[in-house]
Amino acid sequence: MKKKTLKTEAETQVKAPVQKRKVLLAAFEAYPFAKTGGLGDVMGSLPKFLIKEGVDARVIMPKLQVIKDEYVKKMKFICSFTVSVSWRNQYCGLYEMVHDGVRFYFVDNEYYFRREKLYGYYDDAERVAYFCNAVLRSIAYMGDFKPEIIQCNDWHTALIPVYLKELYGANPFYYDIKTIFTIHNLKFQGVFGKEIIGDVLGLYGHTAAEDSLDYEDAVNLLKGALFYTDIITTVSNTYADEIKYEFFGEGLGWVMRLRAQSLIGILNGVDYGEFDPETDPLIVRNYSLKTRREKTVNKTALQKEVGLPVREDVPVAAMVSRLSEQKGIDLLLYIADELVREDIQLIVLGTGEEKYMQGLKELEARNSSKVRAIMKFDEGLSRRIYAGADMFLMPSRFEPCGLSQIISMRYGTIPIVRETGGLKDTVISYNKYTGEGTGFSFKNYNAHELLFTTKNAAKLYREDRKAWDNIMIQAMKEDFSWTVSARKYKKLYDELARK
Ligand code: ADP
Repeated sequence: MKKKTLKTEAETQVKAPVQKRKVLLAAFEAYPFAKTGGLGDVMGSLPKFLIKEGVDARVIMPKLQVIKDEYVKKMKFICSFTVSVSWRNQYCGLYEMVHDGVRFYFVDNEYYFRREKLYGYYDDAERVAYFCNAVLRSIAYMGDFKPEIIQCNDWHTALIPVYLKELYGANPFYYDIKTIFTIHNLKFQGVFGKEIIGDVLGLYGHTAAEDSLDYEDAVNLLKGALFYTDIITTVSNTYADEIKYEFFGEGLGWVMRLRAQSLIGILNGVDYGEFDPETDPLIVRNYSLKTRREKTVNKTALQKEVGLPVREDVPVAAMVSRLSEQKGIDLLLYIADELVREDIQLIVLGTGEEKYMQGLKELEARNSSKVRAIMKFDEGLSRRIYAGADMFLMPSRFEPCGLSQIISMRYGTIPIVRETGGLKDTVISYNKYTGEGTGFSFKNYNAHELLFTTKNAAKLYREDRKAWDNIMIQAMKEDFSWTVSARKYKKLYDELARK
């Protein structure tokens, strides 16, 4: 007969139910509802992985005009109330929807959000002041979900930590809520004329806020957040170090140094459920590490789609990017004519600054059998480029994390990057002696270093397919999924909530 053992005291103690950490992520964009870049990707994917780690993570964003009808139809109205924007009283409708296991809240106000683009309007300061205030009001209407932490993302949400203390600080409901401010890109700070302090932000006479927001006699929303938030995070370790220096600090290097103890780098991940060549429905032929030779089918299909000569043997270099100074477009424009004098094809998909779009179009006109400049935002084509190109160019001046190089590696498209920020943290430069590496890199922001590195990569592609294939294998095997980073966020939430 089995002997009965007595339970120890610890075993008989009733365990208290584990309370899930409640975190609300506030942002202006989240994929698949709205996306202009990496921020949208991150807001669409990180919450799923936080939930897997046991965090009750939810997202709040504006109910934007760009959100497709199929999603709008699924939204449920919760309630409406008024939100003050300085002296104005504005309508706020709060909607919710569960997508892919994540609860999203949408702040509705047609006057502010029923617009063609997400950003870039004369009254952006008023739009974000409204949104930040609306987020803080909304949390009183989320049932039993009262966030312990609000994680704010980029300058559009910078007023949340400021308002939380200045306008809501005396209200016991808000007293114990902590904030994290995540910098996805320090370049964008939300700088406006001084006159908005009272009339738009409603902070006239709040001297601490006025000081924190003050920036060379203008108002800098992001600077305000950096002083008011409990913790600052950014999206790679190298960028967290770089922004303490003036060159990368965008005028706020000194604030970063001042708050260095509260500044943490956590690398962004990619949702490989979304970006996987084996299952991606937007590409022509699915392939995996094992069947990577099938990538050629995507290459020839891409050449056909964009109207370039269909040739399997010619290396195809590509770029999918916002066309801004950050992304090193000027380097590319400087050397592209010389680059395509070799047997190389170049495809650029992007939107952004007019001067770059024009420069790329002119480049295409001069080299019509080798270059395609497609000036639009097109998710499907971007996937077919990741799947069809051989090399992916990212000569960024700075790069907080960068997702494109991570996506391209998974698709076996070899990244050529400048060693900065997240590019430095994710791409291992090819070593011709050991054969190790997942891409090619260069150090200085110099057009000829880009030219030299790309030419070298193309030479290897032409002359040593075995070595190239080996780089492809190593790149495709890299794992930058969210799991590791979601755990780091969870640990950070736990530490912050206990403080
Ligand atoms: P950033 O956030 O600085 O723009 P990231 O590399 O972090 O850069 O993320 C860019 C994301 O936006 C990637 O998913 C990329 O594929 C996508 N993207 C950029 N430009 C375009 C475009 N013109 N069409 C489709 N997708 C684009």
